[in-house]
Amino acid sequence: MPIATVNPANGETLKTYEAMGDEEIERRLQLAEATFRTYRTSTFAERARLMHRAADLLDEDQQDIGRIMTTEMGKPVKQARAEAAKCAKSMRWYADHAQELLADEEPAASDVTDSGGSRALVRYRPLGPVLAVMPWNFPLWQVIRFAAPALLAGNVGLLKHASNVPQTALYLEDLFHRAGFPEGAFQTLLVGSGAIEEILRDERVKAATLTGSEPAGRAVASVAGDMVKKTVLELGGSDPYVVMPSADVERAAQIAVTARVQNNGQSCIAAKRFIVHTDVFDAFTERFVAGMKALTVGDPLDEETEVGPLASEAGRSDLEELVDDAVESGATVLCGGERPDGPGWFYPPTVLTDLTREMRIHREEAFGPVATLYRVADLDEAVLLANDTPFGLSSSVWTRDEAEFERFVRDLEAGGVFFNGMTASHPAFPFGGVKRSGYGRELSGHGIREFCNITTVWHG
Ligand code: NDP
Repeated sequence: MPIATVNPANGETLKTYEAMGDEEIERRLQLAEATFRTYRTSTFAERARLMHRAADLLDEDQQDIGRIMTTEMGKPVKQARAEAAKCAKSMRWYADHAQELLADEEPAASDVTDSGGSRALVRYRPLGPVLAVMPWNFPLWQVIRFAAPALLAGNVGLLKHASNVPQTALYLEDLFHRAGFPEGAFQTLLVGSGAIEEILRDERVKAATLTGSEPAGRAVASVAGDMVKKTVLELGGSDPYVVMPSADVERAAQIAVTARVQNNGQSCIAAKRFIVHTDVFDAFTERFVAGMKALTVGDPLDEETEVGPLASEAGRSDLEELVDDAVESGATVLCGGERPDGPGWFYPPTVLTDLTREMRIHREEAFGPVATLYRVADLDEAVLLANDTPFGLSSSVWTRDEAEFERFVRDLEAGGVFFNGMTASHPAFPFGGVKRSGYGRELSGHGIREFCNITTVWHG
């Protein structure tokens, strides 16, 4: 895959980049290691000051970086600016909380005595250079979600960003430099995915995190496993969105539209499978389909656009194949379902129903604005269907019945259960999945501790 900015709204190649060669990669690895040696001794206060500065710069750059993201991957420009704002907020959150999240832990005095010691504590120390392999769908947020906690913990970052968002990747390196972080604290490696194995095998790289597809995750995790290096994987999702009879159906249908199409439908935590109780199925369907049909699809740089093009031609073909496979096997199209003529990689908001387990879309992630709609008879069937997927990232459930809350929390196989709202990430809450959605957690105290050497300190 060439390293290039290709505008998804019209297919025009705007900028291409040469991949970095071996010498440049070596220079950057040396710099990362050397920087870590001193950066790890900096105080939380110093790191927090730099992170606040980076957040302020990002706020100042919001218009420009918003347009860059939109021209690189096609998200509506309003959403691009909102992504930049969310990044700045999360950088500040980590800057303000890192010290407390990584404070020394003191075991109970009775346990210290029992161990034969006089004193003991647990210290969270940084690991070193961490490689981050990141996707294009939230080209700032996916990176900041890693970089803010990693840098505040005293690690240094090496970013291998997706090949279609090189300008955003270079912007990120520049942002941390301008904020005053030492030169090697956060570096972008402009390389294709073929260069990753060698970088990951390098002794100077201590761990890796990857957000993206399952094949990419498997490739990185197997090399890391071979080298006995820690990994965090945030892979795909096919999140259920369950609507029970006691739900506010009007609101559930309205939020369902956003939950499915935000970021042009290319979000790992987007609601993808809509599982609706038969008592409210018709009422929900009517409103949901009307909402999907009413969306403004068009130029993502236009302020009024709600759904832009998919990020790549291949992404659109993959989505189209999933829809065609379902339709050929008997699915009913309630809206959309036909790729438009004309330039750009647009695909219309689509709702499919009458689905069966044999259809690919039942098992695979639909990475675009395509919803699948299922009717269920009761809670047991809803849970069974919600879990009938290889993925387990998050879930959303609409019910006002207190008795149902615990059942869903107990039984849904997912890293999140969101009631009466859509799944969204927040720096204070852990983020990640089970099953083939990956392992480990990002954000919150859990996220910042993933790339720490959890050290027992004991005195006799
Ligand atoms: P990929 O998983 O291929 O890309 C994500 C990142 O991984 C990119 O930086 C990519 O680099 C890199 N990568 C890809 N293959 C390897 C490899 N073998 N070893 C090391 N790094 C690798 O995502 P795609 O863009 O191809 O999207 C395909 C599907 O992945 C989507 O349709 C969706 O289902 C899922 N996806 C999920 C995301 C999520 O948020 N969970 C985000 C993006 C995609 P390069 O760009 O150079 O190939």
